[in-house]
Amino acid sequence: MINGYEVVVGLEVHAELSTATKIYCGCKNSFGLEVNTQVCPICLGMPGTLPKLNERVVDYAIKMGHALNCGINRICKQDRKNYFYPDLPKSYQISQADIPLCHDGYLDIILENGTKRIGIERIHIEEDAGKLLHSDRFDGSLVDFNRCGVPLIEIVSRPDLRSSEEARIYLETIRSILRYIDISDCKMQEGSIRCDVNVSVHKPGEPFGTRCEMKNINSFSAAVRGIDYEAKRQIALIESGGRVVQETRRWDDAKGESVSMRQKEDAQDYRYFPEPDLLTIVVSEDRVKELKDSLPELPNHKILRYIKDCGLSRKDAEVIVDVPEKAELFDGCLELGCKASRLAANWIIGDISRLMNEGRQISELGITPERLKKLVEYIQDGRISNASGKIVFDELVSSSGSQNSPDIDAIIEEKSLLQVSDQAALEELAARVLAENEKSVFDYKNGKTNALGYLVGQCMKASGGKANPGAVKEIVLKRLGEL
Ligand SMILES: [Zn+2]
Repeated sequence: MINGYEVVVGLEVHAELSTATKIYCGCKNSFGLEVNTQVCPICLGMPGTLPKLNERVVDYAIKMGHALNCGINRICKQDRKNYFYPDLPKSYQISQADIPLCHDGYLDIILENGTKRIGIERIHIEEDAGKLLHSDRFDGSLVDFNRCGVPLIEIVSRPDLRSSEEARIYLETIRSILRYIDISDCKMQEGSIRCDVNVSVHKPGEPFGTRCEMKNINSFSAAVRGIDYEAKRQIALIESGGRVVQETRRWDDAKGESVSMRQKEDAQDYRYFPEPDLLTIVVSEDRVKELKDSLPELPNHKILRYIKDCGLSRKDAEVIVDVPEKAELFDGCLELGCKASRLAANWIIGDISRLMNEGRQISELGITPERLKKLVEYIQDGRISNASGKIVFDELVSSSGSQNSPDIDAIIEEKSLLQVSDQAALEELAARVLAENEKSVFDYKNGKTNALGYLVGQCMKASGGKANPGAVKEIVLKRLGEL
């Protein structure tokens, strides 16, 4: 809520699909190749050419439809959306108008205080346009047609989002799902995901306000900034007696403001009509089911499971789920019945994430689910200290890849890291340390309680770090009490 107004946001996400070839021709679907080399008469829109639908595009879109709990239109068509722009050689884009491949689904996003269900109106397939190139080195614009015909899905949400923060979480969840079901590489910097943002404001209880659309926002943080700016602009306009007009605005992220582009066009302006050069899409019931069964556990479900079953915080669960490799390691531990899952999560979030940030992959770290399970269970049992666990971990990592990488028990044995929990040995150790540190004992008896920490520290030092700190503290306290 801003000044008593509620912000209403709907999002249209365009995601490029990572198929090997384009949607209607055999040209390579690949980013960053030399301009105008991945083109043919079909994707250049030459008269007389015929497009042929890449079946894989339909499969990918249906997978996303299942992931977002949509109904699937097994029989649907493709339509021409007519408009003129220099990057669109045919002067129309093949898209889907009234019958999208997927319809009426939802996505549960995970907020601080629980989940929120966001309606999904539709998911349809379409082709991407080319790209205009501008440079100081030449006047005017040049066009790169390599992107013409790259397959896209457009995911249209219902206006169920109520803040820029909810929009950000929604976008991150969508991206994470696209990655998990492996249909898009989601590289924002390459424009693999872009979104159009619809924003309106109203007072709760009153009808929705007039919405403005900002097109082609290519980062999630820019979407957040655009929504916040647009909401404030509309509220200021209404408060000063003005009226919001339906229009398309351009978000200028560098300047941090949106500027009017054009009054919003209606669907009829695009003169949609069925694409006569393509066959009706017909997908068998078996295929739809097969695609559903092929889906892995989705990241948003995984996060909820980690929170519920392992007691992780939402943030910690997200750090693990965000990288499928981390989630695979953690799930591996859980499947082996790890009794210290909280600790295993900490190691993944801490040391393992740190190494991955340095560019290493889990597969080359020598950390398997079996090893991580053993390591954290040994630490939890008190068999080795946390500090010794770190030594074992570093040893595993540094010897990974070598012919005979040692196992955890061998490392503990070789470096004599077993934690001393033996009561008699610890009693003896404590007696010796107290006798050698009379001043600290005196201080403690005279109320300087922080001397306790020093004495425990001395015991740990005397044991070479192998004493069980909890047991040591108990014994030192008991002895101090007896003095
Ligand atoms: Zn082509």
